[in-house]
Amino acid sequence: MRVRFAPSPTGVLHIGGARTALYNWLLARGSGGTFILRIEDTDRERSTPENVDLILDGLWWLELDWDEGPYSQWERRDRHGEAIERLVAGGHAYEDEGAIRLRVPDEGETIVHDVIRGDIAFPHSAIDDFVIRRSDGGPLYNLAVAVDDLDMGITHVVRGDDHISNTPRQVMILRALGEEPPVYAHLPLLHGPDGKKLSKRHGAASVQDLRAAGYLPEAVRNYIALLGWGYDESTTFFTTEELIRHFDLARVSRNPAVFDEQKLRWMNGRYLRELDPEDLRRRLEELFGRPVPPEAVAISQEKMQTLADFWPLAGFLVERGPFDEKAWDKVMRDSGPERLRAAREALEDADPFDVERVEVALRGVVERLGVKPKDVFQPVRVAITGTTVSPGIFESVAALGREETLARIDEALQKASADG
Ligand code: GLU
Repeated sequence: MRVRFAPSPTGVLHIGGARTALYNWLLARGSGGTFILRIEDTDRERSTPENVDLILDGLWWLELDWDEGPYSQWERRDRHGEAIERLVAGGHAYEDEGAIRLRVPDEGETIVHDVIRGDIAFPHSAIDDFVIRRSDGGPLYNLAVAVDDLDMGITHVVRGDDHISNTPRQVMILRALGEEPPVYAHLPLLHGPDGKKLSKRHGAASVQDLRAAGYLPEAVRNYIALLGWGYDESTTFFTTEELIRHFDLARVSRNPAVFDEQKLRWMNGRYLRELDPEDLRRRLEELFGRPVPPEAVAISQEKMQTLADFWPLAGFLVERGPFDEKAWDKVMRDSGPERLRAAREALEDADPFDVERVEVALRGVVERLGVKPKDVFQPVRVAITGTTVSPGIFESVAALGREETLARIDEALQKASADG
Protein backbone atom coordinates (compact mmCIF):
# COMPACT_ATOMS: atom_id res chain seq x y z
CA MET A 1 0.00 0.00 0.00
CA ARG A 2 1.31 3.42 -0.93
CA VAL A 3 -0.85 6.19 0.48
CA ARG A 4 -0.45 9.91 0.77
CA PHE A 5 -1.60 12.90 2.73
CA ALA A 6 -1.76 15.88 0.40
CA PRO A 7 -2.65 19.06 2.29
CA SER A 8 -2.88 22.46 0.63
CA PRO A 9 -0.94 24.98 2.73
CA THR A 10 -3.61 27.60 2.23
CA GLY A 11 -4.56 27.14 5.87
CA VAL A 12 -3.52 25.33 9.03
CA LEU A 13 -4.07 21.65 9.78
CA HIS A 14 -7.71 21.27 10.72
CA ILE A 15 -9.29 18.36 12.52
CA GLY A 16 -10.67 16.97 9.26
CA GLY A 17 -7.20 17.07 7.72
CA ALA A 18 -5.71 15.44 10.79
CA ARG A 19 -8.21 12.61 10.50
CA THR A 20 -7.34 12.13 6.81
CA ALA A 21 -3.65 12.04 7.72
CA LEU A 22 -4.28 9.60 10.56
CA TYR A 23 -6.32 7.19 8.43
CA ASN A 24 -3.65 7.15 5.73
CA TRP A 25 -0.93 6.67 8.33
CA LEU A 26 -2.83 3.82 9.99
CA LEU A 27 -3.28 2.09 6.64
CA ALA A 28 0.41 2.39 5.86
CA ARG A 29 1.55 1.23 9.29
CA GLY A 30 -0.96 -1.61 9.40
CA SER A 31 0.04 -2.98 6.02
CA GLY A 32 3.77 -2.38 6.09
CA GLY A 33 3.17 0.17 3.36
CA THR A 34 4.46 3.67 2.70
CA PHE A 35 3.03 6.97 3.90
CA ILE A 36 3.89 9.89 1.65
CA LEU A 37 3.52 13.57 2.46
CA ARG A 38 2.83 15.86 -0.45
CA ILE A 39 2.32 19.57 -0.02
CA GLU A 40 -0.12 20.82 -2.67
CA ASP A 41 1.28 24.30 -2.98
CA THR A 42 0.37 25.11 -6.57
CA ASP A 43 -1.86 27.99 -5.48
CA ARG A 44 1.03 30.42 -5.15
CA GLU A 45 -1.08 33.24 -3.81
CA ARG A 46 -2.71 31.39 -0.95
CA SER A 47 0.03 28.90 -0.03
CA THR A 48 2.42 30.14 2.65
CA PRO A 49 5.58 28.72 4.24
CA GLU A 50 4.04 29.48 7.65
CA ASN A 51 1.14 27.16 6.90
CA VAL A 52 3.54 24.46 5.69
CA ASP A 53 5.36 24.73 9.02
CA LEU A 54 2.11 24.56 10.98
CA ILE A 55 1.02 21.46 9.05
CA LEU A 56 4.34 19.67 9.58
CA ASP A 57 4.34 20.72 13.21
CA GLY A 58 0.80 19.41 13.69
CA LEU A 59 1.74 16.06 12.15
CA TRP A 60 4.83 15.83 14.35
CA TRP A 61 2.78 16.56 17.41
CA LEU A 62 0.32 13.82 16.46
CA GLU A 63 3.32 11.56 15.85
CA LEU A 64 2.23 10.80 12.31
CA ASP A 65 5.62 10.30 10.71
CA TRP A 66 5.95 10.03 6.96
CA ASP A 67 8.24 7.79 4.93
CA GLU A 68 8.61 9.97 1.84
CA GLY A 69 8.44 13.69 1.33
CA PRO A 70 7.41 16.28 2.05
CA TYR A 71 7.25 16.74 -1.71
CA SER A 72 6.29 20.11 -3.11
CA GLN A 73 3.71 19.87 -5.87
CA TRP A 74 4.86 23.20 -7.23
CA GLU A 75 8.40 21.90 -7.66
CA ARG A 76 7.05 19.07 -9.80
CA ARG A 77 5.56 21.41 -12.40
CA ASP A 78 7.97 20.21 -15.10
CA ARG A 79 6.58 16.70 -14.69
CA HIS A 80 3.07 18.12 -15.01
CA GLY A 81 4.14 19.94 -18.19
CA GLU A 82 5.53 16.70 -19.67
CA ALA A 83 2.27 14.87 -18.97
CA ILE A 84 0.30 17.66 -20.65
CA GLU A 85 2.52 17.37 -23.73
CA ARG A 86 1.92 13.63 -23.82
CA LEU A 87 -1.82 14.16 -23.60
CA VAL A 88 -1.74 16.64 -26.46
CA ALA A 89 0.51 14.40 -28.57
CA GLY A 90 -1.82 11.46 -27.99
CA GLY A 91 -4.85 13.48 -29.09
CA HIS A 92 -6.42 13.43 -25.62
CA ALA A 93 -6.06 17.14 -25.10
CA TYR A 94 -6.07 20.22 -27.32
CA GLU A 95 -5.29 23.91 -27.24
CA ASP A 96 -8.10 26.38 -26.88
CA GLU A 97 -7.34 30.12 -26.70
CA GLY A 98 -3.94 29.42 -25.20
CA ALA A 99 -5.26 27.05 -22.57
CA ILE A 100 -5.20 23.26 -22.90
CA ARG A 101 -8.32 21.19 -22.38
CA LEU A 102 -8.83 17.48 -21.88
CA ARG A 103 -11.20 15.91 -24.35
CA VAL A 104 -14.23 14.43 -22.57
CA PRO A 105 -16.43 12.13 -24.69
CA ASP A 106 -20.01 13.35 -25.13
CA GLU A 107 -21.44 9.94 -24.45
CA GLY A 108 -21.06 7.44 -21.65
CA GLU A 109 -19.94 7.90 -18.11
CA THR A 110 -16.96 7.57 -15.84
CA ILE A 111 -17.50 5.31 -12.88
CA VAL A 112 -15.54 5.98 -9.75
CA HIS A 113 -15.12 2.91 -7.58
CA ASP A 114 -15.11 4.14 -4.03
CA VAL A 115 -14.47 1.71 -1.20
CA ILE A 116 -16.66 3.67 1.18
CA ARG A 117 -19.38 4.99 -1.09
CA GLY A 118 -19.61 2.22 -3.65
CA ASP A 119 -19.66 2.94 -7.38
CA ILE A 120 -20.50 6.50 -8.35
CA ALA A 121 -21.35 7.21 -11.98
CA PHE A 122 -20.55 10.59 -13.51
CA PRO A 123 -22.29 11.03 -16.91
CA HIS A 124 -19.99 12.68 -19.43
CA SER A 125 -22.83 14.89 -20.61
CA ALA A 126 -22.37 16.81 -17.36
CA ILE A 127 -18.61 17.29 -17.75
CA ASP A 128 -17.22 19.75 -20.30
CA ASP A 129 -13.79 19.47 -21.85
CA PHE A 130 -11.93 20.84 -18.87
CA VAL A 131 -8.81 22.95 -18.65
CA ILE A 132 -5.65 21.13 -17.56
CA ARG A 133 -3.24 23.97 -18.35
CA ARG A 134 -3.99 27.65 -18.07
CA SER A 135 -3.01 30.03 -20.84
CA ASP A 136 -0.14 31.26 -18.65
CA GLY A 137 1.27 27.72 -18.74
CA GLY A 138 0.36 26.72 -15.18
CA PRO A 139 -0.99 23.17 -14.75
CA LEU A 140 -4.38 22.89 -13.11
CA TYR A 141 -5.12 21.22 -9.84
CA ASN A 142 -6.70 17.99 -11.08
CA LEU A 143 -3.89 17.43 -13.54
CA ALA A 144 -1.24 17.93 -10.87
CA VAL A 145 -2.96 15.57 -8.43
CA ALA A 146 -3.45 12.82 -11.03
CA VAL A 147 0.14 13.05 -12.30
CA ASP A 148 1.59 13.11 -8.79
CA ASP A 149 -0.49 10.14 -7.67
CA LEU A 150 0.75 8.27 -10.73
CA ASP A 151 4.43 9.21 -10.36
CA MET A 152 4.39 8.45 -6.66
CA GLY A 153 2.88 5.03 -7.24
CA ILE A 154 -0.10 5.76 -5.01
CA THR A 155 -2.27 2.66 -4.63
CA HIS A 156 -5.03 4.13 -2.42
CA VAL A 157 -6.30 7.69 -2.37
CA VAL A 158 -7.97 8.33 0.97
CA ARG A 159 -9.27 11.87 1.34
CA GLY A 160 -12.22 14.02 2.32
CA ASP A 161 -15.64 13.75 0.74
CA ASP A 162 -15.29 17.25 -0.70
CA HIS A 163 -13.00 15.81 -3.40
CA ILE A 164 -15.54 13.43 -4.90
CA SER A 165 -16.46 15.75 -7.73
CA ASN A 166 -12.78 16.05 -8.71
CA THR A 167 -12.36 12.32 -8.91
CA PRO A 168 -13.90 11.58 -12.35
CA ARG A 169 -11.64 14.25 -13.86
CA GLN A 170 -8.58 12.73 -12.24
CA VAL A 171 -9.65 9.28 -13.43
CA MET A 172 -10.05 10.56 -17.00
CA ILE A 173 -6.60 12.14 -16.94
CA LEU A 174 -5.04 8.92 -15.67
CA ARG A 175 -6.81 6.80 -18.30
CA ALA A 176 -5.79 9.24 -21.02
CA LEU A 177 -2.21 8.73 -19.82
CA GLY A 178 -2.77 4.99 -20.29
CA GLU A 179 -2.92 4.14 -16.60
CA GLU A 180 -5.52 2.67 -14.30
CA PRO A 181 -6.58 4.84 -11.38
CA PRO A 182 -5.78 3.96 -7.76
CA VAL A 183 -8.40 2.77 -5.28
CA TYR A 184 -10.43 5.70 -3.93
CA ALA A 185 -11.92 6.15 -0.49
CA HIS A 186 -13.73 9.37 0.34
CA LEU A 187 -14.14 10.04 4.04
CA PRO A 188 -17.41 11.37 5.46
CA LEU A 189 -17.66 15.04 6.33
CA LEU A 190 -17.20 16.21 9.88
CA HIS A 191 -20.05 17.98 11.62
CA GLY A 192 -20.36 19.71 14.96
CA PRO A 193 -22.85 18.44 17.54
CA ASP A 194 -25.43 20.84 16.04
CA GLY A 195 -25.29 19.00 12.73
CA LYS A 196 -23.55 21.86 10.90
CA LYS A 197 -20.29 21.54 9.04
CA LEU A 198 -17.39 21.59 11.52
CA SER A 199 -15.89 25.03 12.04
CA LYS A 200 -14.23 27.25 14.63
CA ARG A 201 -17.67 27.78 16.18
CA HIS A 202 -17.51 24.27 17.56
CA GLY A 203 -14.39 24.94 19.65
CA ALA A 204 -10.88 23.85 18.82
CA ALA A 205 -10.66 23.68 15.05
CA SER A 206 -6.98 23.20 14.30
CA VAL A 207 -4.41 20.78 15.62
CA GLN A 208 -2.58 23.76 17.14
CA ASP A 209 -5.76 24.70 19.00
CA LEU A 210 -6.02 21.18 20.38
CA ARG A 211 -2.45 21.23 21.54
CA ALA A 212 -2.79 24.65 23.19
CA ALA A 213 -6.00 23.53 24.89
CA GLY A 214 -4.00 20.78 26.58
CA TYR A 215 -5.10 17.63 24.79
CA LEU A 216 -2.71 14.71 24.60
CA PRO A 217 -1.73 13.54 21.12
CA GLU A 218 -2.58 9.93 21.95
CA ALA A 219 -6.07 10.93 23.10
CA VAL A 220 -6.58 13.02 19.97
CA ARG A 221 -5.46 10.11 17.79
CA ASN A 222 -7.89 7.80 19.57
CA TYR A 223 -10.76 10.26 19.35
CA ILE A 224 -10.36 11.31 15.73
CA ALA A 225 -9.87 7.68 14.65
CA LEU A 226 -13.48 7.18 15.76
CA LEU A 227 -14.79 10.03 13.60
CA GLY A 228 -16.19 7.85 10.86
CA TRP A 229 -14.68 4.51 11.85
CA GLY A 230 -15.45 1.98 14.56
CA TYR A 231 -14.16 -1.46 15.37
CA ASP A 232 -17.39 -2.66 16.88
CA GLU A 233 -20.43 -1.09 18.51
CA SER A 234 -18.87 -0.49 21.88
CA THR A 235 -15.09 -0.17 22.02
CA THR A 236 -14.01 3.42 22.66
CA PHE A 237 -10.44 3.18 23.86
CA PHE A 238 -7.72 2.06 21.49
CA THR A 239 -4.01 2.30 21.93
CA THR A 240 -2.22 3.43 18.79
CA GLU A 241 -0.99 -0.15 18.30
CA GLU A 242 -4.58 -1.39 18.42
CA LEU A 243 -5.66 1.24 15.92
CA ILE A 244 -2.89 0.15 13.59
CA ARG A 245 -3.94 -3.47 13.95
CA HIS A 246 -7.70 -2.95 13.57
CA PHE A 247 -8.17 0.01 11.27
CA ASP A 248 -9.54 -0.76 7.85
CA LEU A 249 -11.46 1.11 5.20
CA ALA A 250 -14.26 -1.47 5.14
CA ARG A 251 -15.48 -0.17 8.49
CA VAL A 252 -15.45 3.49 7.57
CA SER A 253 -18.95 4.90 7.53
CA ARG A 254 -20.39 6.96 4.72
CA ASN A 255 -22.44 9.11 7.09
CA PRO A 256 -21.17 12.39 8.46
CA ALA A 257 -19.27 12.03 11.72
CA VAL A 258 -19.73 14.35 14.68
CA PHE A 259 -16.78 16.04 16.36
CA ASP A 260 -17.87 16.71 19.92
CA GLU A 261 -15.24 18.49 21.97
CA GLN A 262 -16.95 17.47 25.21
CA LYS A 263 -16.37 13.83 24.33
CA LEU A 264 -12.77 14.54 23.51
CA ARG A 265 -12.37 16.29 26.88
CA TRP A 266 -13.79 13.29 28.66
CA MET A 267 -11.55 10.89 26.78
CA ASN A 268 -8.52 13.10 27.34
CA GLY A 269 -9.24 13.10 31.08
CA ARG A 270 -9.15 9.32 31.07
CA TYR A 271 -5.80 9.34 29.28
CA LEU A 272 -4.44 11.95 31.69
CA ARG A 273 -5.35 9.91 34.74
CA GLU A 274 -3.49 6.93 33.37
CA LEU A 275 -0.27 8.77 32.71
CA ASP A 276 2.71 8.13 34.89
CA PRO A 277 2.89 11.26 37.12
CA GLU A 278 6.43 12.01 36.01
CA ASP A 279 5.40 11.81 32.37
CA LEU A 280 2.46 14.10 33.11
CA ARG A 281 4.75 16.56 34.87
CA ARG A 282 7.06 16.65 31.86
CA ARG A 283 4.16 17.37 29.53
CA LEU A 284 2.86 20.13 31.76
CA GLU A 285 6.27 21.75 31.86
CA GLU A 286 6.47 21.55 28.09
CA LEU A 287 3.06 23.18 27.63
CA PHE A 288 3.52 25.92 30.23
CA GLY A 289 7.23 26.45 29.72
CA ARG A 290 7.96 26.59 33.45
CA PRO A 291 8.83 24.18 36.24
CA VAL A 292 5.97 22.20 37.78
CA PRO A 293 6.42 20.67 41.26
CA PRO A 294 5.50 16.98 41.63
CA GLU A 295 3.08 17.76 44.49
CA ALA A 296 1.10 19.97 42.14
CA VAL A 297 0.75 17.07 39.72
CA ALA A 298 -0.24 14.69 42.50
CA ILE A 299 -3.16 16.81 43.69
CA SER A 300 -4.57 17.65 40.27
CA GLN A 301 -4.11 14.53 38.14
CA GLU A 302 -7.48 13.08 39.11
CA LYS A 303 -9.32 16.31 38.41
CA MET A 304 -7.91 17.46 35.09
CA GLN A 305 -9.54 16.79 31.75
CA THR A 306 -6.94 18.73 29.79
CA LEU A 307 -3.45 19.91 30.63
CA ALA A 308 -4.81 23.46 30.55
CA ASP A 309 -6.99 22.60 33.54
CA PHE A 310 -3.83 22.18 35.59
CA TRP A 311 -3.01 25.81 36.13
CA PRO A 312 -6.37 26.88 37.58
CA LEU A 313 -6.32 23.75 39.76
CA ALA A 314 -2.77 23.61 41.03
CA GLY A 315 -1.05 26.76 39.91
CA PHE A 316 -1.49 28.07 43.47
CA LEU A 317 1.33 25.76 44.56
CA VAL A 318 3.69 27.70 42.34
CA GLU A 319 2.26 31.10 43.19
CA ARG A 320 -0.94 32.37 44.71
CA GLY A 321 -3.18 34.04 42.19
CA PRO A 322 -4.61 37.50 42.92
CA PHE A 323 -7.49 37.47 45.39
CA ASP A 324 -10.75 37.02 43.55
CA GLU A 325 -12.75 40.00 44.84
CA LYS A 326 -16.10 38.27 44.69
CA ALA A 327 -14.86 35.18 46.50
CA TRP A 328 -13.06 37.33 49.03
CA ASP A 329 -16.17 39.38 49.85
CA LYS A 330 -18.24 36.28 50.21
CA VAL A 331 -16.05 34.29 52.55
CA MET A 332 -14.12 36.94 54.45
CA ARG A 333 -16.92 39.18 55.61
CA ASP A 334 -18.32 38.82 59.12
CA SER A 335 -16.57 36.01 60.95
CA GLY A 336 -14.35 34.89 58.06
CA PRO A 337 -11.12 36.32 59.49
CA GLU A 338 -11.85 34.90 62.91
CA ARG A 339 -12.28 31.41 61.50
CA LEU A 340 -9.19 31.81 59.44
CA ARG A 341 -7.25 32.78 62.56
CA ALA A 342 -8.54 29.65 64.31
CA ALA A 343 -7.52 27.53 61.34
CA ARG A 344 -4.07 29.08 61.41
CA GLU A 345 -3.56 28.12 65.04
CA ALA A 346 -4.68 24.56 64.45
CA LEU A 347 -2.45 24.18 61.40
CA GLU A 348 0.52 25.57 63.24
CA ASP A 349 0.36 22.58 65.57
CA ALA A 350 -0.37 19.91 62.97
CA ASP A 351 2.53 17.52 62.99
CA PRO A 352 3.52 15.90 60.71
CA PHE A 353 2.02 18.31 58.20
CA ASP A 354 0.35 15.65 56.05
CA VAL A 355 -3.12 15.23 54.58
CA GLU A 356 -4.36 13.28 57.56
CA ARG A 357 -3.17 15.73 60.22
CA VAL A 358 -4.32 18.74 58.25
CA GLU A 359 -7.77 17.18 58.03
CA VAL A 360 -7.88 16.47 61.78
CA ALA A 361 -6.79 20.06 62.50
CA LEU A 362 -9.34 21.73 60.23
CA ARG A 363 -12.21 19.49 61.23
CA GLY A 364 -11.35 20.20 64.84
CA VAL A 365 -11.82 23.92 64.19
CA VAL A 366 -15.19 23.26 62.55
CA GLU A 367 -16.31 21.33 65.58
CA ARG A 368 -14.99 23.78 68.13
CA LEU A 369 -16.66 26.76 66.46
CA GLY A 370 -19.86 24.83 65.80
CA VAL A 371 -20.00 25.99 62.15
CA LYS A 372 -20.36 24.28 58.79
CA PRO A 373 -17.21 22.77 57.27
CA LYS A 374 -17.25 25.23 54.38
CA ASP A 375 -17.28 28.17 56.81
CA VAL A 376 -13.74 27.19 57.73
CA PHE A 377 -12.52 25.58 54.54
CA GLN A 378 -13.48 28.40 52.19
CA PRO A 379 -11.56 31.17 53.99
CA VAL A 380 -8.52 28.86 54.01
CA ARG A 381 -8.99 28.18 50.35
CA VAL A 382 -9.20 31.83 49.44
CA ALA A 383 -6.15 32.56 51.59
CA ILE A 384 -3.96 29.96 49.91
CA THR A 385 -5.24 30.08 46.33
CA GLY A 386 -6.92 33.46 45.94
CA THR A 387 -10.18 31.77 44.86
CA THR A 388 -12.77 29.33 46.14
CA VAL A 389 -11.88 26.74 43.50
CA SER A 390 -9.10 24.28 44.24
CA PRO A 391 -8.50 20.57 44.57
CA GLY A 392 -9.36 18.99 47.93
CA ILE A 393 -8.62 21.44 50.73
CA PHE A 394 -6.63 19.00 52.90
CA GLU A 395 -4.54 17.84 49.95
CA SER A 396 -4.00 21.43 48.87
CA VAL A 397 -2.88 22.64 52.29
CA ALA A 398 -0.64 19.63 52.86
CA ALA A 399 0.94 20.00 49.43
CA LEU A 400 1.62 23.67 50.01
CA GLY A 401 3.40 22.90 53.27
CA ARG A 402 3.20 24.52 56.67
CA GLU A 403 5.45 27.49 56.14
CA GLU A 404 3.87 28.70 52.93
CA THR A 405 0.33 27.99 54.16
CA LEU A 406 0.84 30.05 57.31
CA ALA A 407 2.52 32.85 55.36
CA ARG A 408 -0.40 33.06 52.97
CA ILE A 409 -2.94 32.97 55.79
CA ASP A 410 -1.06 35.82 57.47
CA GLU A 411 -1.15 37.80 54.27
CA ALA A 412 -4.90 37.29 54.01
CA LEU A 413 -5.42 38.27 57.63
CA GLN A 414 -3.44 41.42 57.05
CA LYS A 415 -5.52 42.30 54.05
CA ALA A 416 -8.68 41.60 56.05
CA SER A 417 -7.65 43.96 58.81
CA ALA A 418 -6.51 46.58 56.31
CA ASP A 419 -9.92 46.28 54.59
CA GLY A 420 -11.36 46.91 58.02
N1 GLU B 1 -4.89 19.26 -1.45
C1 GLU B 1 -6.19 18.77 -1.18
C2 GLU B 1 -6.71 19.36 0.12
O1 GLU B 1 -5.96 19.86 0.92
C3 GLU B 1 -6.23 17.26 -1.06
C4 GLU B 1 -6.14 16.62 -2.38
C5 GLU B 1 -6.16 15.11 -2.38
O2 GLU B 1 -6.05 14.51 -1.29
O3 GLU B 1 -6.28 14.56 -3.46
O4 GLU B 1 -7.90 19.35 0.33
